[in-house]
Amino acid sequence: MDKLVIGNWKMNGRRSANGALLAALLGETACNRRGVSVAVPAVYLADVAAQLAGQSLTLSAQDVSQFADDGAYTGEVSAAMLAEFGIEYVLLGHSERRQYFGEDNRLLGAKFDAASNAGLVPVLCVGETLAEREAGQAESVIATQLEVLLGRASGHLVIAYEPVWAIGTGKVATIEQIAAMHAHIKQWVLQNAKGADSIRVLYGGSVKAENADAVLSTPNVDGALVGGASLNASAFRKICEAA
Ligand code: 13P
Repeated sequence: MDKLVIGNWKMNGRRSANGALLAALLGETACNRRGVSVAVPAVYLADVAAQLAGQSLTLSAQDVSQFADDGAYTGEVSAAMLAEFGIEYVLLGHSERRQYFGEDNRLLGAKFDAASNAGLVPVLCVGETLAEREAGQAESVIATQLEVLLGRASGHLVIAYEPVWAIGTGKVATIEQIAAMHAHIKQWVLQNAKGADSIRVLYGGSVKAENADAVLSTPNVDGALVGGASLNASAFRKICEAA
């Protein structure tokens, strides 16, 4: 199975900068292919969808409402709305959403259902804090976060392992730490969330041009979720080339 690279722009970019970044990515065969996607702020989805029309690079969303049906949910964007723009993946439970917006397993279960029922592929993000890792709790924290999947494995299951202490810090987990956690996640999924046609576990946390080869050739690493480096066309291209 091809590796998957998703660029998570987070709350960055403006229309003109987005257009220029995308134009650069679309000119690169390593980036302009299925298996590479950009997760853009909701307000720019329509612009980016128009620019990606007829191209191979795909579009992703950073979040989705847990409410499936239209209604009085001020500020929310539903999965059906996202689906109108041809969105392929939707990030769920990024550590920034867990930290700043209090997202927990119950909410994420509802978001997971809303996304998959609308034909989007949820990317469940999991990750431990430094304190949890130092207390020897990394594996149990991840297992608890994975419980969102209990009873709801979708056709294409995508999980992103992003240790919180490696996000935006320049501090990448070691290859041994990544390999061990990815093996743990795969084993958990095979035991507890049976029935998926495919399982991909992406790594995220300070992935950049310089470490992409090493990270992406680690056993059980099926792709990368890239933050900061996805805002730079040449860095993102090198990561896509390594995939
Ligand atoms: P950085 O690549 O900036 O560390 O961010 C990782 C991330 O959170 C991607 O979702």
